[in-house]
Amino acid sequence: MTLIRFHGELNDLIPRPMKHRAFGFRSAEHATLKHAIEAFGVPHTEVGRVLADGAEAGLEHAVAPGEAIEVFPALPWVPDVRSDAEAPAFLADAHLGGLARRLRLLGFDTLLADDSPDHLLAALADDDGRILLSRDRELLKHRRVARGRYVRASRTDEQLREVVRHFGLWRSARPFSRCLACNAPLRAARRTEVLDRLPPDVAATRAAFTLCGGCGRVYWPGSHWRRLRAVVASIMAEVPP
Ligand SMILES: [Zn+2]
Repeated sequence: MTLIRFHGELNDLIPRPMKHRAFGFRSAEHATLKHAIEAFGVPHTEVGRVLADGAEAGLEHAVAPGEAIEVFPALPWVPDVRSDAEAPAFLADAHLGGLARRLRLLGFDTLLADDSPDHLLAALADDDGRILLSRDRELLKHRRVARGRYVRASRTDEQLREVVRHFGLWRSARPFSRCLACNAPLRAARRTEVLDRLPPDVAATRAAFTLCGGCGRVYWPGSHWRRLRAVVASIMAEVPP
């Protein structure tokens, strides 16, 4: 028998009888810690420190009978205080379209996955250094996924709050700098540049516009914009001291 205990928010992911207690199991011969931990429903992206009989162990450590394993969650990231720090980029899985648009609203480079097979999505995240966001544990278990997050929340605005908190995104946010539809950066545009794409009442009453360099979409402050400003304000109000 091997004993395993999951700590902190990892208890969100494991079967009820195992929560908040040491649990005995018989591991497959030559099973690694990665294999043993993931067999209980916890993708390796969620795991921080692991102790085997009190000693730090890597995920390739071979599980031995009689061992006591303690698994701790990956810690929330500390926000980077340097203003020139590179903002993280994301790959959101196909079911997280609302979250992808919200991250773009905050200015984060966020691709939305299509229904490609898991190994291609994992490779895309890995090649681009993107953090994979998913509610599909099998996808997050893929070895090529170096950084990821199993998104716990089910409602879009709560998902955004969860991701901002976990990755400490407040200081690197650049709200309203990226196209919600296609992810390309926005730039300021003169009225004459975009006149042919504006409804007449908007052309008559608005002076400030931003233009997407990717899909050509034009944005201006309107009622939808005000709702989005409220979303941004609510997220940014949580910035830690
Ligand atoms: Zn666009």
